[in-house]
Amino acid sequence: MAEDRQFYIAQLKERLQYYKEMGIDGLSVKGSLKEVLAAPIAVRQESPRFAPTSGPVIVRRDVLFESPLSQQSSGETLEGIRADLGDCRRCKLCSGRTNIVFGSGTSQTKLVFVGEGPGADEDAQGLPFVGAAGQLLTKIIEAIQLTRDQVYICNVVKCRPPSNRTPEEDEIAACSPFLFRQLESIRPQVICCLGTVAAQTVLGTKTSVGKLRGRFHDYRGIQVMPTWHPAYLLRNPAAKRDVWDDVKKIKTLLDELG
Ligand code: URA
Repeated sequence: MAEDRQFYIAQLKERLQYYKEMGIDGLSVKGSLKEVLAAPIAVRQESPRFAPTSGPVIVRRDVLFESPLSQQSSGETLEGIRADLGDCRRCKLCSGRTNIVFGSGTSQTKLVFVGEGPGADEDAQGLPFVGAAGQLLTKIIEAIQLTRDQVYICNVVKCRPPSNRTPEEDEIAACSPFLFRQLESIRPQVICCLGTVAAQTVLGTKTSVGKLRGRFHDYRGIQVMPTWHPAYLLRNPAAKRDVWDDVKKIKTLLDELG
């Protein structure tokens, strides 16, 4: 038994050395040594955006390696995810909402926009981006020869934060699994994150949108373009130029991918 353990430890050391040589360190092991060694490569990000895993995994906090990474939809429908959300009471935002704002548009799309959370107009209508910022988003979408019906629009949190404050960490933690399920259901070619909350949630980073915007990032094999939030553009019209540059990059990529 002790010999078995020695053997597994030696094997594990070798495996961790292999990861280290690939530039992956800071690993910790979950599960029995035997199970971990028998498992296919399974290095996962430990983050609320992934469903808890049942099997043994080697955990790294800042990078996701999953082999193979599925490019296909999770198979869940948006209707099914909405039904699961139900009359949600998972966080304190439920007490102030009029309507849950789940999302709008089509699941058959190459492009998903993710915002922060509903405002007053969205809360009243149960639809995302229908207020002043939404009208600007419509123009941004049309600037790349698409319509709102051809894309999907949703938010990190589905209920309006009081006085439109930034969603808090516990609220994002409660709601973002539904966002990630929406993204895995649609598996678009590109996700455009509107503002810091969306960019940080999707990319699992603390970096601000100002530093992230303008280039593509990866979310589980999907290209992510962070850009300024339309509400920010209403206050800072000069930043529209940046957004135009960013969405042009999205259009070019979508045209290339076909
Ligand atoms: N701002 C957002 O982030 N989302 C909306 O739906 C509306 C305004």
